[in-house]
Amino acid sequence: MTDQPIQGVPYLSLQAEFESLREEWFSNLSDIGASGAFILGPNVRAFEEEAAEYVGSRHAIAVANGTDALVLSLRALDIGPGDEVITSPFTFFATAEAISMVGATPVFADIDEASFNIDPESVRAKVTPNTRAILPVHIFGNPADMTAIKSIAEEHGLSVVEDGAQAFGARYGAGVVGSHGDTGCFSFYPTKVLGCYGDGGLITTSSDEIKARLLKLRNHGATAPFTHDELGYNSRLDEVQAALLRIKLRKFEEDVEARLRVACWYDERLADLDLATPVRPGDGRHAFNLYTIRHLRRDALRAHLNEHKVGNSQCYPLGLHLQDIYKSLGYKPGDLPVVDRLCNETLSLPIFPAMSEAQVERVCQLVAEI
Ligand SMILES: *Cc1c(COP(=O)(O)O)cnc(C)c1O
Repeated sequence: MTDQPIQGVPYLSLQAEFESLREEWFSNLSDIGASGAFILGPNVRAFEEEAAEYVGSRHAIAVANGTDALVLSLRALDIGPGDEVITSPFTFFATAEAISMVGATPVFADIDEASFNIDPESVRAKVTPNTRAILPVHIFGNPADMTAIKSIAEEHGLSVVEDGAQAFGARYGAGVVGSHGDTGCFSFYPTKVLGCYGDGGLITTSSDEIKARLLKLRNHGATAPFTHDELGYNSRLDEVQAALLRIKLRKFEEDVEARLRVACWYDERLADLDLATPVRPGDGRHAFNLYTIRHLRRDALRAHLNEHKVGNSQCYPLGLHLQDIYKSLGYKPGDLPVVDRLCNETLSLPIFPAMSEAQVERVCQLVAEI
């Protein structure tokens, strides 16, 4: 028998993982069905405890998705109309959308061209008397510079909300991402580092006060059954997803290690090419939700990969500061030059825990041809 040469490589493949979890998850599903408790039940409570312990924060509150985790965090910090929140424009839209949804104004800072994360010096320059919070994104799984961000926040009395949607399990210094800010926000959308088979989200915090407010907000602002003193949300996690997340959390370190191994295979093979591979944190751990390179002929590379059926994604083609919805904020091309440049140079290559070295080899062969 001869090995078939690899043709296409998917951007992401979750089927093998599902097969390995099927038996345990299905047996949980049958218990859940028999129990009749489908939402905010024992699996959700257990997952909240296990996730808080993993992240190293005192509390974790499960919610319906990552966007809600951000929205509820901002609401719990009483951020709303008239307030400004400084964030990165080089992220998925939900980051800024959450700020706008609570009625506050997103203020976009420029990013660092090596880490793709928000540049603390640019953050500092954007602080005004209306600034209430900094919302750093740990983009692609790479932790933002939390020491610098927290020191700016302390200096100006600002809250810090971490968008860790792409970075569950990433570490900054000795601490896990999500344990550094007033709250840490996570998404369990299937493509994230820790993904469920539907929608899910989580907020971590070590403040009792914020925790109490979040518990209320996720359940229609109810202080007791049929008793409401503010408008909240229907943002709850269900047992079906929580049971799966508990299974995945138990073997999660193996998944991150597998991602790091794939990233190393890429690093070695791409080292001598005329492109930039992702930087790692000096003290911490990249979770490699995405493996994103910079290439001056990004569009040609993209076309070549597409032609050979290799998955890829343009994360991100346009800074959020230049999206139509934010026209009224008045940003122009050139205002945030690093973001504008990286939007033309970045390309995310396939990465998932079950990816083989031969698949990485095939992707790198094609990259080398450009
Ligand atoms: C995915 C993502 C979100 C939103 O999470 P959902 O679960 O899809 O609502 C927020 N921020 C970032 C950076 C993300 O990648």
